[in-house]
Amino acid sequence: MSYKNFPMVPRVIFGRGSFNQLNEIIAPKRLNINAPFIYLIDDVFKNEPWLISRISLSYDDKIMYISSKEEPKTSQVDDLVEDIILNTKERPSGIIGIGGGSMLDLAKAVSIMLTNKGKSHEYQGWDLVKNPAIYHIGIPTISGTGAEVSRTTVLTGPEKKLGINSDFTPFDQVILDPELTKDVPKSQWFYTGMDCFIHCVESLNGTYLNAFSKSYGEMAFNMCKDIFLNDNLSTEEAQDNLMMASWHGGMSIVYSQVGVAHAMSYGLSYLLGTKHGIGNCIVFNHLEAFYPEGVKLFKSMVAKHNIELPKGICADLSDTDFDIMIAVALGLEPLWENALGSNWKKIMTPKKLKLLYQKL
Ligand code: NAD
Ligand code: ZN
Repeated sequence: MSYKNFPMVPRVIFGRGSFNQLNEIIAPKRLNINAPFIYLIDDVFKNEPWLISRISLSYDDKIMYISSKEEPKTSQVDDLVEDIILNTKERPSGIIGIGGGSMLDLAKAVSIMLTNKGKSHEYQGWDLVKNPAIYHIGIPTISGTGAEVSRTTVLTGPEKKLGINSDFTPFDQVILDPELTKDVPKSQWFYTGMDCFIHCVESLNGTYLNAFSKSYGEMAFNMCKDIFLNDNLSTEEAQDNLMMASWHGGMSIVYSQVGVAHAMSYGLSYLLGTKHGIGNCIVFNHLEAFYPEGVKLFKSMVAKHNIELPKGICADLSDTDFDIMIAVALGLEPLWENALGSNWKKIMTPKKLKLLYQKL
């Protein structure tokens, strides 16, 4: 048996107000005055001077505001890379992603594609990237996805929704400043937070589980229970803890995998554009057969926070639509193997999966 040798984020700074140290962190990483830092920032912050005014641009540094209305696409990555190549004198000194999972994934993908030939969809999969990415920093502004720590950047391409999983994907630096999450709308806080909770349930109940994943997964799972079910934390403590739970949840799946909810949610996202957090919630709500304890807890969290999950989202779909979703979902073999074991194909047939999708 040979064990995988995973890279990790080599540098991380944590603390309320740590974002203020961004400028001093990047200064030594500037290659020269013609090699700018490019900021990819969620456009929700466009008119938010409390955040933007703390970024000091030098030389040709540039902020690109990007909408996270839709999740990152390979074509979007390719357009951004082309724009950067055409408008910079030299290859950038670094890419800095500021936002939720969408911006973090875009920053990772752009930094990879600036040093690798061709189109980003060619790298969707495992270990296809040849050259190291340029220096990239992730600064989450909403907690839950674990994208700040993971080895993947999830992209929707012409044929599939699949990550670029590679040793060059993880950030070189992460800044964890929980204060940046202060204005996240409640429903989004819940959906993205539940992404973390679901990562833990899927990891802790998977066949790939091992002590590495279990220790991180249990830590994040308990923090989520505390944040979403108990009333013992202050607002600040809850923000701090959710940011760390996201990190630990991400660490847990480094050495295991996610499961049924994620596989099905990828199918929804590919066909209907359903976003990751809410998509996971819509699916997970119906997975008591696979994750009885986790779903029970989830339902009490939904009730406690008065969250209205959308219903009937597959009501008007055609057979062809179902086939597309089923193909995307069943294509994610490691997720099913983790969830159901090596015989998973016998357990989760296309027919059974269709019945599950029809429940949503
Ligand atoms: P997101 O980045 O799509 O953002 C969700 C919403 O929250 C957006 O409207 C955004 O504008 C808003 N927002 C973010 N920060 C805010 C703030 N501080 N104040 C106010 N509004 C704010 O959401 P997400 O759930 O963090 O990320 C989802 C994406 O992450 C998906 O594309 C998914 O595929 C990806 N993902 C990646 C990984 C990975 O390991 N790479 C893991 C899980 C999910
Ligand atoms: Zn997820």
